[in-house]
Amino acid sequence: MKAELISIGTELLLGDIVNTNAQFLAKELATLGVDVYHQCVIGDNEDRILQGFKEAFDRCDIIITTGGLGPTQDDLTKELAAKYFNKEMYLHEESLEWIGRYLNIKDEEVLEANKNQAYIPEGAIVLHNDNGTAPGVIIEEDNKILIILPGPPKEMKAMFSSHVVKYLEKLTGKVIKSRTLRIFGIGESIMAKRINDIIQNSTNPTVAPYAKDYEVTLRVTAKEDCEEKCEALIGPKCEEIKSILGEYIYGEGEESLDLVVAKLICEKKLTIATAESCTGGLIASSLVSYPGISEVFMEGAVTYSNEAKVRRLGVKEETLNKYGAVSEETAKEMAEGIAREANTDIGIATTGIAGPGGGTEEKPVGLVYVGVFIKGKTIVEKLNLSGNREAVRRKATMNALNILRKELIRNY
Ligand code: ATP
Repeated sequence: MKAELISIGTELLLGDIVNTNAQFLAKELATLGVDVYHQCVIGDNEDRILQGFKEAFDRCDIIITTGGLGPTQDDLTKELAAKYFNKEMYLHEESLEWIGRYLNIKDEEVLEANKNQAYIPEGAIVLHNDNGTAPGVIIEEDNKILIILPGPPKEMKAMFSSHVVKYLEKLTGKVIKSRTLRIFGIGESIMAKRINDIIQNSTNPTVAPYAKDYEVTLRVTAKEDCEEKCEALIGPKCEEIKSILGEYIYGEGEESLDLVVAKLICEKKLTIATAESCTGGLIASSLVSYPGISEVFMEGAVTYSNEAKVRRLGVKEETLNKYGAVSEETAKEMAEGIAREANTDIGIATTGIAGPGGGTEEKPVGLVYVGVFIKGKTIVEKLNLSGNREAVRRKATMNALNILRKELIRNY
């Protein structure tokens, strides 16, 4: 089965926004086993969109479009699809009712302005939009299929995952299931190298790496007649990957590193306090996202100045003078100090240079020390992190949590 992607929107042509929709769909379709040999971007122009449909359908069976479903004059996709297939449009009452409810519009006249979005080409399958107003549609005609999705990525992705995947599964007669392994502490390229044989030689299930927000994920996807058969393929493949990547894999699916670590601390019933300099409270905030954390999280201190490190954590002035605030020794005393002051089992501390200024040759931007005190033992790790201030702070937070995670799974 061959498909093409048409991303509609003048903003895309002008380079005002990046075509992340095409990236998402291309990856998803590859996973589903649908071949995509062409993609294109077309502005909000009637003739060029119609021409785009014609040219693409000369080459393929399925076109997926994104964008141009809004309520304004230049949102043309559905109308042009109807025109292309010689179909009338009709008002889809359920969609209109949803739009009113979604926008919380009580006034009929106001709703009139959004009515456009509820018009559907006759005979089309309507795809409900859980995250917005514009429904998507699927038109099937003469062995050609046109799938029309909204432009906003959040709406498009949800609609694709909840409706289109099932539709394509039916077409291919197969069930597709994926499991995502979440990995931290190893870059995408090094990880891919370590499991290169598995990535290259796995066809069902396929194994695909993705880099995502400072971490890496591996998606293991199987295509079979039923869910059970998919699971039977996915399970052993994940075990094989785990036997190579070991503790780099911290979780699966929607589990984030923050939540995995918070859950571990709660399970081990160890109390914790944080002393943060460059991360400025991010570690505490990450832990507090976990609903059960109040049992174990005692306090978080943001000790930015040297004076605060001394007064609040008992870091020695001598240490600060001799080694500096950004040093192994200070990180160690910070972690030990907060655990002592808060009377907790664990003390976790960060001190570093988030940039953009403040770096020196000896201590460049991105240099961060993480201290983890746990029941009498202190570990300090030196990190050299890249990226802007935000990236350094976020990476330092994730690294600190990961150091604690590794210690907890190894020794507790
Ligand atoms: P709306 O109902 O919001 O008008 P729409 O379906 O008409 O949605 P567009 O107006 O084309 O979609 O795009 C809405 C927004 O969605 C754009 O401003 C942009 O932020 C985002 N968007 C559209 N197309 C893409 C794309 N291909 N990749 C990434 N983002 C996109």
